[in-house]
Amino acid sequence: MDSVGVAAAAPDAGPGPAWQSKCPWGAPSTTSISCSLADVMSEQLAKELQLEEENAAFPEVVAAAEGPFITGENIDTSSDLMLAQMLQMEFDREYDAQLRREEKKINGDSKVSISFENYRKVHPYDSDSSEDEVDWQDTRHDPYRADKPTTTPRRGFIGKGKDITTKHDEVVCGRKNTARMENFAPEFQVGDGIGMDLKLSNQVFNALKQHAYSEERRSARLHEKKEHSTAEKAVDPKTRLLLYKMVNSGMLETITGCISTGKESVVFHAYGGNATEDKVIPPECAIKVFKTTLNEFKNRDKYIKDDYRFKDRFSKLNPRKIIRMWAEKEMHNLTRMQNAGIPCPQVVILKKHVLVMSFIGQDQVPAPKLKDVTLSSEDMKKAYYQILNMMQQLYRECNLVHADLSEYNMLWHDGKVWLIDVSQSVEPTHPHGLEFLFRDCRNVSQKGGVAEALNERELFNAVSGLNITADNEVDFQAEIEALEKMNEDHVQNHGKKLSAFSSDGDPPIYDE
Ligand code: ADP
Ligand code: MN
Repeated sequence: MDSVGVAAAAPDAGPGPAWQSKCPWGAPSTTSISCSLADVMSEQLAKELQLEEENAAFPEVVAAAEGPFITGENIDTSSDLMLAQMLQMEFDREYDAQLRREEKKINGDSKVSISFENYRKVHPYDSDSSEDEVDWQDTRHDPYRADKPTTTPRRGFIGKGKDITTKHDEVVCGRKNTARMENFAPEFQVGDGIGMDLKLSNQVFNALKQHAYSEERRSARLHEKKEHSTAEKAVDPKTRLLLYKMVNSGMLETITGCISTGKESVVFHAYGGNATEDKVIPPECAIKVFKTTLNEFKNRDKYIKDDYRFKDRFSKLNPRKIIRMWAEKEMHNLTRMQNAGIPCPQVVILKKHVLVMSFIGQDQVPAPKLKDVTLSSEDMKKAYYQILNMMQQLYRECNLVHADLSEYNMLWHDGKVWLIDVSQSVEPTHPHGLEFLFRDCRNVSQKGGVAEALNERELFNAVSGLNITADNEVDFQAEIEALEKMNEDHVQNHGKKLSAFSSDGDPPIYDE
């Protein structure tokens, strides 16, 4: 042992000399608990093992373990704006309660009563109480949308004589610049300027544009980093506020945590709250938040741009609204499926880019995706015929093609298959509708696992009722494209789509 070791050991050897206890330099009589490195290691090991076990047992429910994500009490305090808005909501609620008390006092038992309804600040959730909620679905009047700037004809000026206005006119140009701010990335805060009669000079506009672009690039970089952080951070303050309002209004009881973070959406689990007069809230809900960062959605243009249901609106919309349109599409498609009796989540409510639906699963545990379950051969067969049946129903009764049908978007719950994720679904007469259907058929037929499964071409004919006879994939695909082209030509010539592709009589219904 070295000299230090000897000195340190000295006090333990006995009550040492008097000078030693007085001397500030004397070694303290330590009573440190000895703990070997091996113990520490094993404790860590145990913790790690436990964590591993927990992760294996609850792979998807990440945040649930850390307590509820949003409740009436637990709120995020990181954003001043949100905090202020929440306080305001709380204040409004108290104000309303006071109003109701006064109403009661004044009216008493009187037969004629007066109502303070118009003075109330908080209204039931559906009625869009807060002023920040623009009814985006109404594209005819949007206070944040500038009136179309007057276009200057090609000759470069309008008016006559001394009233000539050229395209260089300061006012016209300024207004145009203000309107153009709308094209900046949605994260870029341009304030309410768009709705006012603001006139931005070219110089100011260009500087802003530069800044918006560099911000966009910066936020894209930041976003990548964020992707690896917790799911909760992926929800921006505005979305959190929307979620908070759902809890605050009593529609939801608690939002427990995140079920899934995808490229385009984040899905949360929530316990349903109180039913309203016209709505029953399921005991457990799934909240699908469509991400408002646009990068991913750019690739999806072709689904929605050519969908005639959205065609008129697409060109007029800013990116923020396009994302809401995805959510709206999912809602409409789910409703159609619900009406046809296809097992799928039931729509509860749509708020901007947030869709609340019933939860497929139980006690916060979502039903497994078809790719994650091992089915007995009997269940496998059952599932296969059910999928076949659902594809036919989807096509004929809902007039829809799923367009992203795979074992990732089918859940196994209650001994049957549930279809989810239908925001990209299109009608069969969509310019690429039949191609999407063929792709769906390929996904299903390849994963069949059932001896008598149809091949992708047979499946396609069985679902669509079309009778494409080509016996190889290349010719088959060529015929599909020819059909799509025929439909497009029909649109060109008649200004509207075929109601459906003609088929040679009713195809056989496939069932077990
Ligand atoms: P994405 O576009 O991100 O794929 P999905 O609609 O497929 O969005 O949802 C992602 C995941 O969230 C699903 O794979 C599923 O596990 C879960 N999920 C979505 N909706 C529900 C629901 N209603 N009930 C239970 N789980 C759901
Ligand atoms: Mn999906």
